[in-house]
Amino acid sequence: MEKVVIVGTGCAGLTAALYTARANLSPLVLTGILPGGLLTTTSIVENYPGFPEGIDGYALMDRMQKQAERFGARVKFATVEGVDLSGRPLKLTADGEVIETQTLIIASGASHRHLGLESESLLEKKGVTYCATCDGALPVFRNQPLVVVGGGDSACEEATYLTRFASVVYLIHRRDRLRASKIMAERTLSNAKIKPVWDTVVTEILDAKLDKVTSVRLRNLKSNAESVLDCAGVFVAIGHVPNTQIYKGFLDMDENGYLTPKRGMETNVPGVFVAGDCADHIYRQAVTAAGTGCAAAIDAERYLARLNQ
Ligand code: NAP
Repeated sequence: MEKVVIVGTGCAGLTAALYTARANLSPLVLTGILPGGLLTTTSIVENYPGFPEGIDGYALMDRMQKQAERFGARVKFATVEGVDLSGRPLKLTADGEVIETQTLIIASGASHRHLGLESESLLEKKGVTYCATCDGALPVFRNQPLVVVGGGDSACEEATYLTRFASVVYLIHRRDRLRASKIMAERTLSNAKIKPVWDTVVTEILDAKLDKVTSVRLRNLKSNAESVLDCAGVFVAIGHVPNTQIYKGFLDMDENGYLTPKRGMETNVPGVFVAGDCADHIYRQAVTAAGTGCAAAIDAERYLARLNQ
């Protein structure tokens, strides 16, 4: 039986791995489908302390994993399909294998929110994408008009990044003010290649019949006027949804699916702890995720010490 299983290898999971490994608990760390978490899909991270010039998101996560492994964390590429947290030991099924553990730290993060349009799912990976760093340099997007949807830091970051490749980037936002932090908003709005389109939503992505993106149908929320804007790609950056579906029925969560810890980082099930974006809809920063990963690890370590007294 495992002492500690950690689900997720973003900042929260790998920090929890580092702390529990240094406490000689030899944690088993399951990566999920995106090893390194969402930060691996970003370009330069400028607000993680200790890197005055910034650091590439992938490089940061690679370093965190190596640091945890140095102290005995075992990182395994596997996705958790189901859990049984109703008794002891706690049980997880990952890639068909049942894993038993005394404690569980859930750091499963959050995934990109979708617009919810039928045309969006039909054209996903055919011009509709959720990651500029991953897909922005594709030949199909070069020197073409591109659309970014959203008004937060992610949308600003995506739009700014895409100006390297696009002829113009249209930033479609449903309000007339960006939600993004001041520095990101100013940087975005002063970029001559970025054209904001305010008070507007995408109602359809065209053209599913041609199996590629040719334009978007837009509606202005103030005037109700409809229009069509030519573009070769749509980058959706409208926030995230927590990856917590498999814990429904076992763990307390809010109406949006964010896990709600009870004591420190411990959930309503003793021995089950949470860290990072799957339990945080307010701060959602790399450094706060790392902080809660540390807290969850300390809580798990103390729980095990009490159990084995
Ligand atoms: P966010 O801050 O929640 O912003 C989501 C944006 O999408 C909002 O502008 C929202 O509009 C819009 N939106 C939501 N649902 C929509 C829908 N169905 N249709 C159209 N628009 C929709 O998400 P985020 O930008 O991903 O940022 C998440 C967190 O990560 C934030 O705390 C952010 O600071 C952080 N982050 C930081 C950095 C950085 O510091 N470098 C980079 C990326 C993210 P409204 O404004 O009208 O609600």
